[in-house]
Amino acid sequence: MTFNEFNFHKDLLKGVKIAGFKEPSPIQKEVIPVIEKGEDLVGQAHTGTGKTAAFGLPMMNKIAKKEIERALVITPTRELATQVSDELYHLGRFCGIHTITVYGGVGYGRQIALINKGVQVVVATPGRLKDLYKKGKIDNFNPEIIVLDEADEMLDMGFLEEIKEIFEYIPQNRQTLLFSATMPEPIKELSQEILTNPQFVSVVGEADVTNNIIDQKYYVIEEAQRDEAIVKLLETEKIDKSIIFCRMKREVDRLTDHLKAMGFLAEGLHGDLEQSDRERIVKGYRRGESKIMVATDVASRGLDVKNVTHVFNFHIPFDPQSYVHRIGRTGRAGKAGKAITLVSTLEFKELQRIQKEVGAEMTLATLSLSGETEESVVDFATLQGEVEAVEISDKAIDFIDSMEEMDYHEFVERVVTLLLNSKNSSENCLGFDENTVNSMISNYQDEQKVARKNKRKKKRA
Ligand code: AMP
Repeated sequence: MTFNEFNFHKDLLKGVKIAGFKEPSPIQKEVIPVIEKGEDLVGQAHTGTGKTAAFGLPMMNKIAKKEIERALVITPTRELATQVSDELYHLGRFCGIHTITVYGGVGYGRQIALINKGVQVVVATPGRLKDLYKKGKIDNFNPEIIVLDEADEMLDMGFLEEIKEIFEYIPQNRQTLLFSATMPEPIKELSQEILTNPQFVSVVGEADVTNNIIDQKYYVIEEAQRDEAIVKLLETEKIDKSIIFCRMKREVDRLTDHLKAMGFLAEGLHGDLEQSDRERIVKGYRRGESKIMVATDVASRGLDVKNVTHVFNFHIPFDPQSYVHRIGRTGRAGKAGKAITLVSTLEFKELQRIQKEVGAEMTLATLSLSGETEESVVDFATLQGEVEAVEISDKAIDFIDSMEEMDYHEFVERVVTLLLNSKNSSENCLGFDENTVNSMISNYQDEQKVARKNKRKKKRA
């Protein structure tokens, strides 16, 4: 199937051609005819499936053919709003469609002036849009098509009430389209409230979440090894652009500084940065001026950058949906991608929960670094210091007693070789292997059992 079959305005088809879209993606094939017919729609799809063009093309086609005058797209974050409006601009520019982005943190004047001047497409975040309606600044802005993009994110970010309030200002005779990666109960209720007899289209099968074009791996490491592990991975993986996800803003700052100090082209992105800085950083990353984006979940929601070959989870995310969102930054538009997660043994259970809930196929990985290091990585002076500093244990004395039949020299040589081998192998390998992980997990579970038992004992006493 080609885009010519949709009966789009010729100038819109020019935009599609220049964007390099050869064939409609699965969601586009299903969604475009529904929107063309003027029906309401619930679309369940992740970013990366081509959903922006799925709603954007038929919406702009109606504007180009003068069937409607105005459309509104509501997105959860400023970054996503900018991204959607960029995509709409690129696809619609030959039809002369004017798009503006409306979000908080910047002045009101220009946004109000442009909307009232008659811009055709407004892409907005909920807070600022609600403000503008409430203050009576855009009373004449009556969109005939409204798109709610990433509705589940809006729910997570606490925007549901704002969305409902916005709909009080919008005329009833409209076409409403709601897109969401997941369908939690409040989103189902919202769609019953604001949509009329919607068609339901879903391209989120298991195949999408377990996305076989994204190779998902995890390394089990010691907590203290995180920085070293990420650096080793950045050095050994074949990476174009990558995103490293952290849980906290200060972790983003710290890791960015650390990577910069090591000579990597890294930039940090989180919600505490000024809007202008966030835009500059995303732009620089898009252009390839920086190659590594260290980010929190919120800052990078919906981020669509070409050639992100790797997503790293420096820490596993708090919930399974974030995992899906994070790894969806790679493997976009049919390209292969890699998602690599670092976990400590303490986090292992969390990882299993995510794995089960999203049905993801993650494989345990270890990285042999022996090709890169000298044969003997142990420096003798350090080893001598370590040997002298160690306290002799009773177990060691018993063990030597049990070996008394062996020649003393041979015995010592064997023990030192054993020590060197174990040092070399731990220094030449990133991540614990399956047997080690299993025994660590069972040790951890045993410790937990004992702790629980002691707690119960204490309680009874
Ligand atoms: P989205 O899911 O809207 O975030 O889109 C993901 C990426 O796929 C964007 O970079 C789009 O420009 C691109 N894209 C959308 N539709 C197509 C298509 N039919 N063929 C190739 N790339 C596409």
